[in-house]
This record gives sequence, C-alpha cells and structure tokens, in this order.
Amino acid sequence: MEHLDAIVIGMGPGGETVTDRLLTAGRRVAVVERELIGGECGYWACIPTKVLLRPPEVREEAVGAAGVADPALDWPALRSYRDQMIRHLDDSKQVEGYRERGALVLRGEARIVGRDPWRVAVGNTEHTADHVVVATGARALVPPIDGLDGLGPDVLWTNREATALTEIPERALVVGGSAVGVELGQFLARMGSQVTIVQRGPRLLDREDPRLCELVSEQFERDGVTVHLGSQVTSVAREGDGISAVLSGGERVRADVMLLATGRVPRGDQLGLAELGVEPDRGALPVDGHCRVAPGLWAAGDVTARSMFTHVAKYQGRVISANILGTDQVADYTAVPRVVFSYPEIAAVGLTEAQARERGIDVATAETDLTAALARPWTMDTDPRGTLGLVADRERGVLVGAWAFGPLASEWIHTAALAIRMGLPIVALRDTIPQFPTFNEGYLIALEALDV
Ligand SMILES: Cc1cc2nc3c(=O)[nH]c(=O)nc-3n(C[C@H](O)[C@H](O)[C@H](O)COP(=O)(O)OP(=O)(O)OC[C@H]3O[C@@H](n4cnc5c(N)ncnc54)[C@H](O)[C@@H]3O)c2cc1C
Repeated sequence: MEHLDAIVIGMGPGGETVTDRLLTAGRRVAVVERELIGGECGYWACIPTKVLLRPPEVREEAVGAAGVADPALDWPALRSYRDQMIRHLDDSKQVEGYRERGALVLRGEARIVGRDPWRVAVGNTEHTADHVVVATGARALVPPIDGLDGLGPDVLWTNREATALTEIPERALVVGGSAVGVELGQFLARMGSQVTIVQRGPRLLDREDPRLCELVSEQFERDGVTVHLGSQVTSVAREGDGISAVLSGGERVRADVMLLATGRVPRGDQLGLAELGVEPDRGALPVDGHCRVAPGLWAAGDVTARSMFTHVAKYQGRVISANILGTDQVADYTAVPRVVFSYPEIAAVGLTEAQARERGIDVATAETDLTAALARPWTMDTDPRGTLGLVADRERGVLVGAWAFGPLASEWIHTAALAIRMGLPIVALRDTIPQFPTFNEGYLIALEALDV
C-alpha cells in the first residue's frame, strides 16, 4: 500500500486533465483505468464519430462547390483511418507516457473502500490518498423495450457497436433523436443506409430552440431519413439476420440493426461509495461548486451529470486540479457550447427563448438567414444553408442565448459563447469588425435586428 497525493479513477478526458495538471505540478498520482486510457470519448464516442462524419461532410461540401466532379466515399479507407484514430483500441503508448511522467498506472476496476484517508482498491492492491478524483463517465442507457434482452450486439447497437462498425448496414433503426442519434443517423444515411429515427419527444433535438429543430428536420428530409416524432419502440424481435420493431403508433420497422441513442447513465454507483455515506443520485455523484463530493473526494465529467460533454469534463478537471493545488476555483457553467456535428453543423449556447422567458427575462430575439445576408455561404456552396438565431436580455442589453445552423457552426458559435459568458454589451458587439467573408459576420446582421 502506498499513500499518494491523488488517485484518479477513470482516464477519459476528465481524469486525464486532472492527472496531467497534478503531474506537471510534481504531485505523486496513481491513475486507475479499467478499459483504455482516453475513455469513452477517445475510442467509442467523440473521436470516432467526428472521424466518421468527416468524409460524408466533405462529399456534401464538394457536391455543393462549383467545379468539383464526382466526389466518392471510400468506406474501407475511412474504416481504416477510424481504426488508426482509435489507436486500434490499444493504449500502451498512453500507459507508457504516464509511467514516464511518474504516475502509478493501475489497470482494473477501482472501488473506494475506506475514507479518512480515502482508500482505493484495484484487484488485490489498495492505496490511500489525500485526494480521490472520480471521473468514471457514463454508459448507454438501455430503455425498457419488450424483447430487447433477446437481442445480441450484432443487431442491437449502442454507441460502442455503432462507432466500431465494420460494414454499413442496409437498414438502421435509430432510437432517440438527440445529438448521438442525429449524428450517427445522418452518418449512416450518408453512407447509404436506409435510416429510420424514432424520437419520443415532439422534435429532433427537442431541448433546443424549436426553429433549430425545424431546420434539422428539413435537413433529414433532404437526407431521406424517415423520422417518427412523438413515438417509441414498444417491442422488438429478431427477424432473419435483423430485427423487426413495433412503434407506439402501431407501425412496424424492419432493420438490420437497432441503435440505442436514448441517453447516458452516470457511472457513480459502482464504486462502493454508498457504503461510505456518499449516495449517488441515479448514478450521478453530487458535487458542489468546486466539483467536490466530500472533503478530499472530487468528481469530473459525465459522472457528475452536468452537461455531458468532453469540454465540460475537461473544465471540471481544470477546476479540481486548481483546487487541489491550492487555488480556490468555483465552476461556472455559463455558456457551454452544444454542438451536433452533422452537416450542416448545429450549434447552440446559453438559453433558448423559452428558457429565457421562464426566467422572467425581458426577451428580444432575432433570426438571420445568412444566405440572404452574407457572401461566405455563396463562396462555399452553390446551394448554401445557414441561419443564426440570437436571444437577448433587453433590460441588461446583453445576449443570453444563440443557435446556429450552417457549415462550421461549431467554430463561429464561440463568438456568442464568449459574449454570453462575459456579458459583453450588445452595443459593443455591434461595434466589432468581423473578417469578410465569414459566417461570423452574421452576428452583426442579427445584432442589428435585435430590438434592444
Ligand atoms: C456517440 C457519442 C459522441 C459524442 N461526441 C461528443 C463530442 O463530439 N463532443 C463532446 O464534447 N462530447 C461528446 N460526447 C460526450 C463525451 O463522450 C463525454 O462527455 C465524455 O467522454 C466524458 O468524459 P469523462 O472523462 O467523464 O468520461 P469517459 O470518457 O466516459 O471516460 C471514463 C473512463 O472511466 C473508466 N472507468 C469507469 N469506471 C471505472 C472504474 N470503476 N475503475 C476504473 N476505471 C473506470 C472507463 O473505462 C472510461 O475509460 C459524445 C458521446 C457519445 C456517446
């Protein structure tokens, strides 16, 4: 048994961020990982999805650009690059890298078996530490659907099987119309699958501004994706090499695979913490503003159930390491960008109009068709799309929300993210000088249109 400065459990982006900072500061750190250093994000989520989505996106861009002939997709080449980007599911270089930096790298499932000081068990070894950081992420939620138990991973996919796919299925049933369902649904459709999406809510991406959801639905129509809204899969059974599912409206959908994109469950309930007086809430570890669960116990990333994004996991990792290293830092979740990397990209930040009204804000909104107002969409594409929506607080004269639909929206949403986070006055934003010709110029037009 060794007493360490810190033990980090789970080496996805949250755990890696804390570890990197503590090692740089010269602390003695043990890291525990039961699968692969890099986490869900690196092997079965963010990285493979963004790699897979890129060629269909380039193809769309090429089709839209004047003077490009016959862009073609090459699945074996894409699959091989995906495998390279997920390191062929081999993290030995990462393990070596952390060991070289002085970390104690432990492989296996960690349990927290004692407190004062915190004691962590991995297999037959136990170590204690001043600080334990839990960054164990989340797993795919499996909804209660009749017949699901009888299906194997050849036909029942979560993000794991979907991102590791080796062949493109002819027909795919995607259950869930939030970011994961939209990204993977569009990817499969663009690769030639016949895709059906079943969404329980009234709209795709139904937590976003309804106008943005409309634009996404229009896009899915263009992509030839069948969307069932306000619908659920009530039962499913194996049929031949695929599945046959019945929806709540009585429709039957046959497909080669059924992909569950129905949400994520934080993995805070498998560590033994309840026995030590820390009760997870539906798997999530409750944290205070410092990302602290209890004195000396911290949590970062999806396990906190706070905006389940890699950038939030990394931010919380920065907050925790600052606090451990002696700088008091409180997490501020204002203006976390939310991006769906479909094509065109979908991005949002801050409050929707409805959320702003619920908070009693005197709201002003503006929507700008960027293709009518800007040069950039037309220099990129012969049939461009692009829309920007703003939500403002009239009384304070600042932006409180924004949404965007268009190429590279993941990049230009950050103008709004910065303005909202810093509370930059709209008057000052109107006096900025964005580069011509860019999508970013759209802000000037939308800001002018705001009745503020
Ligand atoms: C398909 C998909 C696409 C996504 N795309 C994006 C995107 O583009 N951008 C974005 O910001 N977010 C995206 N996300 C969300 C993102 O993947 C997560 O928010 C992010 O991975 C959270 O990081 P984390 O550090 O909390 O946990 P994870 O990345 O989940 O890592 C947790 C690690 O903890 C390990 N672990 C768990 N329990 C134990 C234990 N008891 N002992 C030891 N190790 C343990 C796991 O093996 C894992 O390696 C996507 C999610 C999905 C499903």
